[in-house]
Amino acid sequence: MTIFEKIVAREIPAKIVWQDEDVIAFHDVNPGAPVHVLVVPKRVIPRIAESTAADQALLGKLLLTTRIVAEKLDLLTSGYRVVINNGPDAGESVPHLHVHVLGKRKLGWPPG
Ligand code: AMP
Repeated sequence: MTIFEKIVAREIPAKIVWQDEDVIAFHDVNPGAPVHVLVVPKRVIPRIAESTAADQALLGKLLLTTRIVAEKLDLLTSGYRVVINNGPDAGESVPHLHVHVLGKRKLGWPPG
């Protein structure tokens, strides 16, 4: 079980921002910005590179959920960044697809 599956199963705690039958969004335990939320599919896709056409609707839902998170946490005016880390060079550390939503500070570009 991935750590995010354990959060979905409520076996470990998380500060949940939003969830429905397909996705869950919760605050990152080690935030990289004043707002740092992870949007996670309840069904495991290990990483974006392993998604298939069968995941199309779920992938769309993940992105639409980032908008819900942004609205709930008052990021729509100030702006925010949506990030997916895929594989070692990107720093992926949990093999369960997740979309980072970062905001409430000025974010540098390109990322480090
Ligand atoms: P990534 O490096 O893209 O795989 O992102 C994994 C993220 O999961 C990191 O930002 C971690 O801080 C975060 N993380 C790991 N364990 C937990 C947890 N139990 N609750 C919330 N966030 C977590």
